[in-house]
Amino acid sequence: MNVADSQRVASALEQLGYESAAKPQDADVIVLNTCVVRQSAEDKAISWLNNLRPLKKQNPNLVINLMGCLVGVKSPDKLQKRFPFVDVFSPPSDPQPLVAFLSQSEDQFLEQAERQKRLNIQDEEIVLPMAEWGKLVSAYVPVVLGCSHACTYCIIPYRRGIERSRPSSDILAEVRCLVEQGVREVTLLGQIVDRYGKDMPSEPNLAGLLHLLQEIDGLERIRFLTSHPGYLNEELLDAVAELPKVMPHIEVPVQAGDNQVLENMRRGYTVEDYVHLVDDIRYRLRHKSPGVSIATDIIVGFPGETEAQFLNTYDLLHDLRLDVAHLARYSARPETVATRHLIDDVPEQEKWSRFRHLEQLQEGIAGEINAAYKNIIVEVLFEENVRGRWRGRTPTNKLVFVSSQQNLRGQTRLVHIDWSGPWSMQASLT
Ligand code: SAH
Repeated sequence: MNVADSQRVASALEQLGYESAAKPQDADVIVLNTCVVRQSAEDKAISWLNNLRPLKKQNPNLVINLMGCLVGVKSPDKLQKRFPFVDVFSPPSDPQPLVAFLSQSEDQFLEQAERQKRLNIQDEEIVLPMAEWGKLVSAYVPVVLGCSHACTYCIIPYRRGIERSRPSSDILAEVRCLVEQGVREVTLLGQIVDRYGKDMPSEPNLAGLLHLLQEIDGLERIRFLTSHPGYLNEELLDAVAELPKVMPHIEVPVQAGDNQVLENMRRGYTVEDYVHLVDDIRYRLRHKSPGVSIATDIIVGFPGETEAQFLNTYDLLHDLRLDVAHLARYSARPETVATRHLIDDVPEQEKWSRFRHLEQLQEGIAGEINAAYKNIIVEVLFEENVRGRWRGRTPTNKLVFVSSQQNLRGQTRLVHIDWSGPWSMQASLT
C-alpha cells in the first residue's frame, strides 16, 4: 500500500514539474512515507526523520513532507511540536496536502494545467512516475482505503481511517492508464480487499470488479490482497477459477491457530472455518495451472498466548501446508484494544523462540511444495533484471530467476524449472 502511495506522490510531484533526485542531499522536496504496523517500523520512521533534521538546517528552503501512518488521519498537532522542521503532514494515500503546499501561487497552477495537457493526463487519472513508464511491469492499485474491522492488535484502522472503496470507474481508468504505460500485471490492494464495494451499494463487489478488469486489453495478470477469511466467499473464488487473467494465488491471513486467541484478536472466525476455507480454495481452483498457492500471516506472542495455544498454531501450519507464511512477533500498538485491555505478557525471548519454530517449519514446507515444481514447464511474467538474471513470477507467485541475454522485461514466457528452494527457483527458457 505504501509503495502505491509513494508512486502516487511521485507522479503528483512530476505534474508540478519536479524530477526525482539521486540522493536526499540533492533534493528540494523530501517525502518520508511511513508505516507503523509494528514498533520496529515506527522506530525506523522516526530515525529516518531525525536524519533529515540536519539537511533542513543546511538548507532552510528544503520542503519536508511526513506522510502515512505515523501521521494518520487525525490532527498532527503532537507531531508538529515534536518535529517542527517538517513543513507538511499528509495522511496515508493523499498527496494533496503536499501539492497544495507546493503550488501556492497561481502561476504554478497554470503551469501544472499546461503540463498535464501536454502529457495528456486527466486530473483523476493517477499515473506512474515517468521513471517507471515502460519499465514497471507489475503495479499496485489500491481499491479499498482504510479499514473498519478493528482486530484488537491492529493500529491500521486508527491511522488509515474507516473503510472506503474507490469507484470502479476510477479503478478501471487507472488500470487502463497503467497498461498504456507498460504495466502487464496489477495487484488490487485493500486491508480487507474482499470487502471491496460493501460500503458502496451501487458498485460491483470484488468478483464483479475482477470480471471488469479481465476485459482490459494488454493487461495480462490480476492479483488481489489481502483477503479476510470471513469475506472470501464462493462467488469470489469462482471468479478466480473462471477468469484466466486472475492468478491462482490467495493471500488470506489466519493470524493464529487457536480459537481462544482468535477470539481475543476478534478475528471473527474459528480454526475450523479457516481449515474449511483452505479446502474450498484448493477445491474450487483445482483446475488452475500450475495449481493454487495460499499465503497466510501469523502473529506469535499475542497477549496471553500460552505454550499450548502456540502449539495449536504450529500444528495448524504443519497440517495445512501453505505456500507462504508471513510471520510476526506481537508488538503492542498505541490505541488498540489489545494495548488498552490486555497485558503484553509473552517475554520477548519467548516470542522469538515461537517465531523461529514456525520459521523453520515453514521453510521445510515451502521447500517441499516448491520441489514439486522441479522439471515442470510453467509460465513466468518477467519484471526486471537483477545483477544479470531476469526475475519473474509464476501464476502462483513463486519467484523465478532466469539467465538470458534477451530482454525479457514484461514478457510472459514458458520456462523449465531447473532448481527450486524454499524462497525461489531457477529456470531456463524453453
Ligand atoms: N489488513 C492487512 C494488513 C495488516 S498488516 C492484513 O490483514 O493482512 C500485515 C500483517 O501485520 C497482519 O496480517 C498481521 O499479521 C501483522 N500485524 C498487524 N498488527 C500487528 C501487531 N500489532 N503486531 C505484530 N504483527 C502485526
